[in-house]
Amino acid sequence: HAVADGLPFTKYGGRHTVTLLPGVGIGPELMQGVRKVFAAAGVPVDFEEHVLPDLARGADVDEPFEHAVLSIRRNKVALKGNIEIKGRGENLVSRTVQLRRVLDLYVYVMEARSQPGVKTARQSDVDVTLVRQNTEGEYFMLEHSPVRGAAESMKVVTAAASERVARFAFEHARGQRRPRVTVVHNKATLPRSDGLFVDVALAVGSEYPEVDVDVMSVGRCCADLLHDATPFSVVLTPNLYGVYLGAILSGLVGGPGLLAGTNYGPQAAVFEPGTRNKGTDIQGRGVANPVGMLRAAADLLHFVGQRGSAALLRTAVDSALRRGTATHDIGGHSSTDEFIQDVCDHIVAARRPWDPH
Ligand code: ADP
Ligand code: MG
Repeated sequence: HAVADGLPFTKYGGRHTVTLLPGVGIGPELMQGVRKVFAAAGVPVDFEEHVLPDLARGADVDEPFEHAVLSIRRNKVALKGNIEIKGRGENLVSRTVQLRRVLDLYVYVMEARSQPGVKTARQSDVDVTLVRQNTEGEYFMLEHSPVRGAAESMKVVTAAASERVARFAFEHARGQRRPRVTVVHNKATLPRSDGLFVDVALAVGSEYPEVDVDVMSVGRCCADLLHDATPFSVVLTPNLYGVYLGAILSGLVGGPGLLAGTNYGPQAAVFEPGTRNKGTDIQGRGVANPVGMLRAAADLLHFVGQRGSAALLRTAVDSALRRGTATHDIGGHSSTDEFIQDVCDHIVAARRPWDPH
């Protein structure tokens, strides 16, 4: 389908080149962890790192960002932290949203699964794939103040973009043998925009007789997920609702540090921790949970065809969690470095099959 699958990746001498955007907050320290793990696993990946400083006051061209976009266009694949900040006040433009728009990363996918060894307040068997429209809706970035004391923000929904993301959701459901796609909306209040999204999703869904379709208001979806996530399989959502459904799902499985998410478009795939938190309050203290970033890195390896290394990294993360290696956010006492070291040890041992481990 129309995502970056099967692209000819940048590969010199058998090595992959991947754009790295460490971002702000805990991003850079998590990237250090990824570098260590990749070195331990000996994966043939070279990073092109792009640091994105705050825009200087009055600057109208975001040159570091433009260079990062060129790098992603060339490599077709990137790993990123939170790159939110750009400019100030009136000139504030989200680099995250901008990146999705310029690279046409029209779908965001987050696989929310319960984590081994992580105790949660509710369920231990969550398994939901969130498929979110990623380029329009409320995040169309058409906001202005026509007069003092008032602001307007445009929500844009097109049949074309809705069709692409719906097709992705149903292809995913069919490919992964998932029984159901739940289409989320707020049609009662927004009959035209969300109505269009639902109509298009239903039309696409009718081409997939083996997949059940459920249509549900976003409010009910939030409540039902918190009550019992079991009936949910694939959740297809317009942009903004998807942000909050993603937050609920990450909360259900143990918090914001655990899951990965991917932005896909026809020309590139951008991997990141699932809820893109900055973690400013814990930055630089060496306590951030690296699991979400490591899962993003594993997804990236799988995507570029390094399937064995991807599987090894996933197993290493799961077994570290299972052994009780855990950062503070999930009730443990390990530092980021200790978690990373545990993952590296597992990988090194697995690469030496003659060593019992
Ligand atoms: P947002 O950017 O959406 O406001 P925050 O960065 O404030 O989110 O994150 C919400 C909370 O979750 C913060 O207390 C933050 O420290 C915590 N958090 C986010 N990511 C991680 C992580 N990887 N490890 C540990 N705690 C995290
Ligand atoms: Mg915050």
